[in-house]
Amino acid sequence: MAILEVKNLNLGFECECGFRQALYDVSFSLEKGKMHALVGESGCGKTISAMSVLKLLPKTASIIGGEIFFDGENILLMSNSKLQKLRGAKIALIPQDPMTSLNPLYTIGDQLLEVIKIHQGLHGTEAYQKAIEALELVQIPCAKERFKAYPHEFSGGMKQRAIIAMALVCNAEILIADEPTTALDVTIQAQIMSLLKDIQTTRNTAILLITHDLALVGENADYVSVMYAGRIVESAPAAEFFNNPNHPYTHALLKSMPSAKRNERLQTITGQPPTIQQFINGCKFHPRCLQCMDICKTVVPPVYYVGENHFSACFLNKDANCPND
Ligand code: SF4
Repeated sequence: MAILEVKNLNLGFECECGFRQALYDVSFSLEKGKMHALVGESGCGKTISAMSVLKLLPKTASIIGGEIFFDGENILLMSNSKLQKLRGAKIALIPQDPMTSLNPLYTIGDQLLEVIKIHQGLHGTEAYQKAIEALELVQIPCAKERFKAYPHEFSGGMKQRAIIAMALVCNAEILIADEPTTALDVTIQAQIMSLLKDIQTTRNTAILLITHDLALVGENADYVSVMYAGRIVESAPAAEFFNNPNHPYTHALLKSMPSAKRNERLQTITGQPPTIQQFINGCKFHPRCLQCMDICKTVVPPVYYVGENHFSACFLNKDANCPND
């Protein structure tokens, strides 16, 4: 059952040159105990889509259409006080740089105790025990000593574990992991992903993984949505996505991904994704697409269903069977 449903989200920014749309009809859902990866190049709209779920948006951004349901309730219509209770307690963010969430002036323990006090109303020994349990759960060695440490005394991986511990003490039902391992080396990256997978399966937590790393997605996600220039251009269950990719942009991304099995040169995608100021008619990928047709330059491609729960927004599917249509 979907715990989160984003439906036709449209969002824009007020820029020097006026209002510019950044998200176009973004729709995806997240089920309990599953990991859904939002994939794409920098600036494609994946982080702003995720931040919309927490309604943590820059002042210049405004949502101009759509709905976001958490457990059946529209987040976009919630009062600020209700939203504040939701953030951290029900939906927690694991950022790319953990120092954006940790306060360098307080010990890890004090920060955990504060979260436990706010979200669970616990104090004293009870709160302390809960904090130690959480540090142990995220496999921080010598939890009692580390409880007294300041963030600067933690390595990057340990800081990320401390952030995850904060999400655990709140029993968050959704974790939004925004490039959670980008700043970490490969071994620590694997450990953090394995910890997130553990939490997903043992606690039935839903995880929204924001990443540009398709290898990470292949190893961990249950469902994949690819974003390009503010739109979801392909979405499918992970196995179907990797076995039967459809959209030319997905093909290009997969070909640019290193693989030990493929004995071929890595390919790059020519050109750059458009900036928010650049308006592109039709399919926004058309200037970079090797299969571009005349129609692609003027008409926005609709979504075509090309498999079970698998859609692709590309005119090459015009004549395809559409089992879910
Ligand atoms: Fe390429 Fe056209 Fe498909 Fe866009 S709609 S990805 S330009 S073939």
